[in-house]
Amino acid sequence: MLDTDFFLRWMAATAAAVDRESDRLTELDSAIGDADHGNNMRRGFEAVSGVLDEETPGTPGAVLTLAGRQLISTVGGASGPLYGTLLRRTGKALGDATEVTPGQLAEAFGAGVAAVAQLGGAQAGDKTMLDALLPAVDVLGSSFDQARDAALAGALETVPLQARKGRASYLGERSIGHQDPGAASSALLVGALAEAAGPSGGGNA
Ligand code: ADP
Ligand code: MG
Repeated sequence: MLDTDFFLRWMAATAAAVDRESDRLTELDSAIGDADHGNNMRRGFEAVSGVLDEETPGTPGAVLTLAGRQLISTVGGASGPLYGTLLRRTGKALGDATEVTPGQLAEAFGAGVAAVAQLGGAQAGDKTMLDALLPAVDVLGSSFDQARDAALAGALETVPLQARKGRASYLGERSIGHQDPGAASSALLVGALAEAAGPSGGGNA
């Protein structure tokens, strides 16, 4: 079972990962965007860590809805509302349970990812964060390690794609040959689940 502490560790591990990888995310965004994705993510998840410390939410759902709300109010770029919606919708789907199974998390995360697709109007193959998130949803219920690997593979598979949504789509064919920054950061978010589960929990969620 995944308790509130697990969800706090997930958000903390995500904050640490985007802080560590901030320069790489900004580099990816400088190739096909406006070079702010690393900063957006770092600032957003720093604010998430702050608010989670302050307000000590008592359930998994409350952790994620609070985190999502904070991202929406802190991050100006496209990624703020999209990541905010992802976490808020996932949190809402978890309801007020004090512990959830990996299967319940997978289902709720699937609802969150669907909400991102609805908000941004993107689908698989459009070279967005969805290309990392959608493959992760499929395996999240059985293994966090597999979900991390699927998200990473999905992010790498954005390299040869032409962007059809967001700022990178303005580049047309010139967006080909670069990894999508939001897919790269989504792989960090999913990878942080395995970190939160620890060495024994990742393979057999
Ligand atoms: P901005 O594009 O406003 O500068 P960021 O650089 O922080 O915002 O985030 C860019 C990322 O947001 C992209 O790499 C892509 O993954 C994601 N993104 C942009 N538009 C969409 C969309 N319509 N649907 C899904 N993801 C999107
Ligand atoms: Mg940007």
